[in-house]
Amino acid sequence: MPAGFPDFRLGNVLATSFTATLTERRGDAVERIPTPHRLVDWLAVNGLAVESCTDAQLELARELRESIHAAATAGALQDALPASAVQVLNDRSTQGRAAAVLTPEGERRWQLGSSRVEDALSVIAADAISIIAGERDGKLALCASPTCQAAFFDTSQSRTRKWCDMNTCGNRQKKARFIANQRKSSL
Ligand SMILES: [Zn+2]
Repeated sequence: MPAGFPDFRLGNVLATSFTATLTERRGDAVERIPTPHRLVDWLAVNGLAVESCTDAQLELARELRESIHAAATAGALQDALPASAVQVLNDRSTQGRAAAVLTPEGERRWQLGSSRVEDALSVIAADAISIIAGERDGKLALCASPTCQAAFFDTSQSRTRKWCDMNTCGNRQKKARFIANQRKSSL
């Protein structure tokens, strides 16, 4: 990884891993795909390798990311879906070519039409659509961290997960509580 770029926050769900390329939306936001090259890196890590990425394609990706965030947030709150976000999701889903292929080991891989960013975005858009449409086993929720409030997909058995990512938001919250308790007990 080139020095100086924020690392990626990877989860098990493609669409919300993608929205997590912008973290701390309600605090000091961290852009984790600041350059086209970092989007290429992120896509490669997520099994969607593309040959190149232009500034315009990075913009498309970010527009999709924010549209997924808006639609998933509305979904979590059981609000009406914002029409503009729905439009972007549908445009990205339909304007790319990708096919699911099965490996001999029984794993699913994505084969992109011409390895363009648009093809990769169509896979991410379709993933977001399946979550927002309620087709998958899980529940959309919002992270309890006030500086995050990211929409995430809770696949825990009890559907009571509070934080988008236990390793960051959850731990930070626990640490804050621990420090607060320490202060109280030392008074
Ligand atoms: Zn969070």
